[in-house]
Amino acid sequence: MTSGGDSPASGCTSYAVFEGYQGLVDGGEMIREMKWEDVRGWLSEGGTLIGTARCKAFMERPGRLKAANNMIEKGINALVICGGDGSLTGADKFRNEWPSLMDELVEKKMRTADDVKPYKHLNIVGLVGSIDNDLSSTDATIGCYSSLQRICQSIDFIDATAFSHQRAFVIEVMGRHCGWLALMAGVSCGADFVFIPENPPTENWEEEMCNIIKRHREMGKRKTIVIVAEGAHDRKLNHIHPKMVEELLSTRIGLDTRITTLGHVQRGGPPCAYDRMLATLQGVEAVKAVLEATPETVSPVICIVENKIVRRELVKAVQLTQEVAKAIERKDFEAAMKGRDAE
Ligand code: ATP
Repeated sequence: MTSGGDSPASGCTSYAVFEGYQGLVDGGEMIREMKWEDVRGWLSEGGTLIGTARCKAFMERPGRLKAANNMIEKGINALVICGGDGSLTGADKFRNEWPSLMDELVEKKMRTADDVKPYKHLNIVGLVGSIDNDLSSTDATIGCYSSLQRICQSIDFIDATAFSHQRAFVIEVMGRHCGWLALMAGVSCGADFVFIPENPPTENWEEEMCNIIKRHREMGKRKTIVIVAEGAHDRKLNHIHPKMVEELLSTRIGLDTRITTLGHVQRGGPPCAYDRMLATLQGVEAVKAVLEATPETVSPVICIVENKIVRRELVKAVQLTQEVAKAIERKDFEAAMKGRDAE
């Protein structure tokens, strides 16, 4: 589901579930058998060609019962799902509930006992698709390097005009509660200052930032680039808006300052080579994990750690990720930074 392109071989029949969990709940044409010719050329496409959606029905048991029934209809006994922590949480819940969903289908006479017999358990494998690189337990999520590439290209374009006119630019990048995109863009583009949620600036950041930028100018820099993650805040969790930074640079240093919000261009376009490689290698590992799974196996999520494709416990990865958000909420920024480490 959602990943689509990485069709398994190994004698399996593979299906694509269109429009995320909504497709699983609706069934019928939304769950389609996929052959090689259906997915040819997909590797270099951006986005997801089988669609994705948020689905309220799947949050409730009746929706999941319908989804289970649709899967049996098609003879599906394993699900590879590519999504964020919400999708993975839903997948694991579905797997844990599966035996009782089978019982309910029989009780409600939607299926006979013989129908459900071959579906005693459901294998679930997670892949993480996100530009934010916000899942703990992995070094990179599928999409984050393509997005970083797009951000760097955009900043290169902005650089030309900034340099020519000696301007300052405040650039807002995506990432939700995660500062990875902002931080890595800052490193890759030589930004003067970066704001990220996990490591907010000091209490007198206004002065600190202005001093740093003044010093850079005195050293002969003709342009100024400040990157603000969309989830950036100060140590009291007050949102740091690009407008605040722009005003400071204009009024305190007298720089001709502009704001650029990169927006959805960061999410689109063809994937970079790293993401194609990651999606393909992780897709292969996901198929292996599905085929090797037993009722006793805990649901895995496929990760990359120190350049190796590895399996991690899906529930634990989601929990670790949620702990980062909680650490930020209680202003424990040291724990938030540590929580972003792959391990
Ligand atoms: P992104 O990081 O891009 O937002 P996500 O997978 O975290 O991706 P969510 O909106 O949180 O996005 O979840 C996607 C879908 O997964 C939901 O619309 C819902 O159908 C299902 N889902 C999420 N959490 C649960 C849950 N606790 N139980 C059942 N289903 C869930």
